[in-house]
Amino acid sequence: MSGLDSLLEAGRIARLVRESIPNMVRAEMPLVELAEQVEAMIRDHGGRPAFPCNISIDSVAAHFTPGPGEDTVIPPDAVVKVDIGVEIDGYIADTAITVTDNPVGVSLRYAAEEALKSAIKMVRDGVKVSSIGSVIHSVVSRFGFKPIRNLTGHEIKRYNLHAGVSIPNIPTADNTKLSSGHVYAIEPFVTLGDAAGEVVDGGKPNIFKIEKTGAGKLSEAELKVLTMLAERFNGLPYTLRWLKECDAELLRIHGRLWRMGRLRGYPVLVEKTGKPVAQAEHTVIVTEDGCVTVT
Ligand code: MN
Ligand code: MN
Repeated sequence: MSGLDSLLEAGRIARLVRESIPNMVRAEMPLVELAEQVEAMIRDHGGRPAFPCNISIDSVAAHFTPGPGEDTVIPPDAVVKVDIGVEIDGYIADTAITVTDNPVGVSLRYAAEEALKSAIKMVRDGVKVSSIGSVIHSVVSRFGFKPIRNLTGHEIKRYNLHAGVSIPNIPTADNTKLSSGHVYAIEPFVTLGDAAGEVVDGGKPNIFKIEKTGAGKLSEAELKVLTMLAERFNGLPYTLRWLKECDAELLRIHGRLWRMGRLRGYPVLVEKTGKPVAQAEHTVIVTEDGCVTVT
């Protein structure tokens, strides 16, 4: 398969899984069960999860995945964001959906989806990322809501989920332009008009990634774990839930590598004023006169 074919296939699987998610989510469902069901469906269709299934509830905006053996369940009336990535041969499709019956959540989701649609309509070679942010901001504001200003979309490269260029959800002074042939995820996050419209770190990470930097001499055991993580996840984000052999010793070494700066942990991101957040996301390939939505 060519790179383009791999990406299109990853996108096809991501869409299929995303569209199944509303039928999977139910109140009182353990988060581990939902995450594992979603990740298994990606694998069953011939893809690999590009990152752990993110399940972010209410004011949690992003970067939450259940830990191994966690017993948290989906609360009733929740605003549930499920964010998934599908990887084939390093080519990644990134997409998200908000599932909710909560009336406020439904409105927030509608605003996020409309903002995403308007953003995608203006994507083409040479458009400034800031113009995308302006459109998202203006659509969201029309509903009386606010985009989360410090969460952004991002360029995607092979085995690289956040590849440099950011796509803001507000107008910015960034003069960077979208380029034909490049792949980007666009992802408006929307919260209430009286919220801060900003996320802050809100809990210890369950999602990790190998850092290319990091100093300090490694013991043989540390080097072995780091090598295993590198071979298994190719530099993409992972979670301890995926390490079936995760015993106390491995956890200790993992914690040490993290403190040494050899691993990056993604803290859970929570809306600063505790207001609910909705999200919509698609991955696009930019062309001369528009884009192809792969998800
Ligand atoms: Mn995503
Ligand atoms: Mn993304």
